[in-house]
Amino acid sequence: MNLVYDFSPVTVTAQPEWMLRKYSNEQLVEVTEKLKQQRKERKIEKEFLLCANCSFIITSLDYKIEIDGGYRHTFKNPAGIVYTIGCFSKAAGCFNFGDSTEQYSWFPGFAWCYANCLNCFLHLGWFYQSGERHFYGLILDHLTPASSPTIPS
Ligand SMILES: [Zn+2]
Repeated sequence: MNLVYDFSPVTVTAQPEWMLRKYSNEQLVEVTEKLKQQRKERKIEKEFLLCANCSFIITSLDYKIEIDGGYRHTFKNPAGIVYTIGCFSKAAGCFNFGDSTEQYSWFPGFAWCYANCLNCFLHLGWFYQSGERHFYGLILDHLTPASSPTIPS
């Protein structure tokens, strides 16, 4: 899977690769502005993120939050697998399961359990909890934006 979207906090509305190839930087700024305007006009406030496997709605960019000083984190698990995750306050499309544990937790003080797609059960990330505080750490490669920007005519 090769996602061309960038979920970093600075560039929420990154453009697909083909748009970057097609337009000069100047044109890209103009197109981006037009797309932003279009979105406003259509009153699309939520930018949903879908399961990359089955397109079930998992969460929204509206629920991005910063944990330990950032939204996006890259970690390696004990098996050596590297994950880049984004933190979300809510992810209604996730099914949390497994016993919570603090063992190997990437966020000290937070216990984790698995968070999978409610619909197809793809492993999407982890649900973290510490007392009343909780959030989702979701693998960004396993999410895909709900809609691709279209070129204004
Ligand atoms: Zn799914």
